[in-house]
Amino acid sequence: MNTQMENKAPNRLMSMATMKCPNCHKGSMYKNKSILPLNEFMVMPEHCEVCGLKFEIETGFWFGTGYVSYALSVGTIFVLAVIFALTYGFTWRNNSIFIFIGVMISALVLLQPWIMRFSRVLYIYVFVKYKSSAFK
Ligand SMILES: [Zn+2]
Repeated sequence: MNTQMENKAPNRLMSMATMKCPNCHKGSMYKNKSILPLNEFMVMPEHCEVCGLKFEIETGFWFGTGYVSYALSVGTIFVLAVIFALTYGFTWRNNSIFIFIGVMISALVLLQPWIMRFSRVLYIYVFVKYKSSAFK
């Protein structure tokens, strides 16, 4: 018997931020909560441990995430550029552009594990809605 509470969809953004299964919003999409150890940061269970959703919906499903992570990287660069312009400032008279390039590359390298993880989360949330049984 389902109560009204159980039928109410959990907050999508919260579930995405915590990288939960798009179908039940309970099971974790990744084996480890942390990105450490680094050689396992992309390891996902084959099926959701709570609802049994198959994460890799079809062979090559994750191929499209390359575009998502590219978009996330571009977005990150844009946000960094705005922050940098407001705090340090860009001018042609000093090396600010080179400092920014250094900051940008370091930030992208450091953020890459999260960008790659979130691109899969964003991607699967487009295809799988809450409590859909389409992909069981
Ligand atoms: Zn699930």
